[in-house]
Amino acid sequence: MSQSGKLRVAVIGAGAAGLCVARHILARPLTFVPPVVYELTDHVGGTWFYEERVGTDDNGYPIHSSMYRDLRTNLPKEVMMFPDFPFDPKLPSFLHHQDVLHYLENYCNSHAITPHIKFSTVVEEVKPITMETEREGALMWEVISCGKCGGQSTEMFDSVFVCSGHYSDPHVPSIPGLEHFKGTVMHSHSYRYPEPFSGQSIVVLGAGASGVDISIELAQANAQVILSHNKPALPFSLPAGVRQAAPVVRVLEDGSFEFQDGSLAHAQVLMLCTGYNFTFPFLHSTQLGLQVQEHLITPLYKFLVPPAYPSLFFVGICKVICPFVHFNCQVQFALAILDGTVKLPSREEMEKEVRREMQEKAERGVQTKHLLKMDSEQWDYYKMLARTVSHSDGWKEKRTIRSRKRKVVLVPHSPVRRWKQKLRNGPQ
Ligand code: FAD
Repeated sequence: MSQSGKLRVAVIGAGAAGLCVARHILARPLTFVPPVVYELTDHVGGTWFYEERVGTDDNGYPIHSSMYRDLRTNLPKEVMMFPDFPFDPKLPSFLHHQDVLHYLENYCNSHAITPHIKFSTVVEEVKPITMETEREGALMWEVISCGKCGGQSTEMFDSVFVCSGHYSDPHVPSIPGLEHFKGTVMHSHSYRYPEPFSGQSIVVLGAGASGVDISIELAQANAQVILSHNKPALPFSLPAGVRQAAPVVRVLEDGSFEFQDGSLAHAQVLMLCTGYNFTFPFLHSTQLGLQVQEHLITPLYKFLVPPAYPSLFFVGICKVICPFVHFNCQVQFALAILDGTVKLPSREEMEKEVRREMQEKAERGVQTKHLLKMDSEQWDYYKMLARTVSHSDGWKEKRTIRSRKRKVVLVPHSPVRRWKQKLRNGPQ
């Protein structure tokens, strides 16, 4: 806690999630001192900052962004926006990635966040410390970071928000016999544009958003694409240059791919669009009682906070969501926990709830790697977070004092409703 008695928060990452945390902390100057936002690159925007380079950056860190040159958003701007910060109405619904970066830069400038960001500074370690002196028994967080010039610094915080993203560490599945393949193996993380692949035969593995989008780009650049996936059927048609195939089961000694239905194909490139691993190299997750697997981190109460450490928050780990809306709800819920507005159940109760939810999903047949997928369940989740904040006693007290000054927007009712209505009505 700062000398003024206000809370000190560290934010790891200045992507959309980290900026959202900073924006809402800065809006609560009575409770929080301005946050310290650590950002390993020299810019804001995270994923939305297009880097033509692949491999490592000037400081030797792996390139963070997986953005490719011609990407357009797969969500319309009407549901993508932070509910309290609309996109420029002149822009089309589906944006080029550069428009999203500009939007985030505007968000950062409009909320005067930049002075609170430590650029080119990587967080190396975060650990809980039980204070033995001034505030005996209180739990603080030690954050060890390293700046561009190599200088290490250690700072103490009341709370840490992990906003380091989860689309950077490529997930590479094990494919039996892959050593026999003499062509190029790459992950979509390092894909930037299709021209170098023109005229080549490519097996794209995985038909998630990136797999499909990259297959279409490649086919339009005259590559012969085999899109190998385990989905029953894709609900849209693909260009002539893309042929669908069953999952790859192995690579034979002559370097050809064998698919699940027994068919074979030769290719020059294997493009893995197989997603990303969760990775938090700065956390001793097991010591914190957390299990971090490729596609899962648990236990997190409300997909956000470890029951054993309710001042550590993981923003935006869920999948198939409207990310900015999601961050906006989670962040305000987390800040309400910190300022005492929301009272959490006991550690045991929270752990029990997480176990029950995971078990219930497993019983419904949800695979472990899909446990964090929300999809249409996200709207009830946002409502639950918003209701918990607005129904708590602390919130009612504060609302009477502050409501005239501060407009709080937790759930983007109107844009989402309007968008859903538009979809129902069809194009106008
Ligand atoms: P990021 O944007 O990844 O930001 C994390 C930040 O943390 C980075 O700036 C990074 O440098 C920093 N960082 C990481 N580790 C450290 C450390 N140790 N110390 C200091 N700083 C650190 N979402 C949509 O809404 N619509 C779309 O159309 C869409 N398309 C996408 C397409 C692709 C190819 C990808 C990969 C993602 C897409 N997304 C889309 C999801 C997108 O990731 C989210 O919208 C959002 O940008 C995630 O924000 P974030 O802040 O959680 O993470």
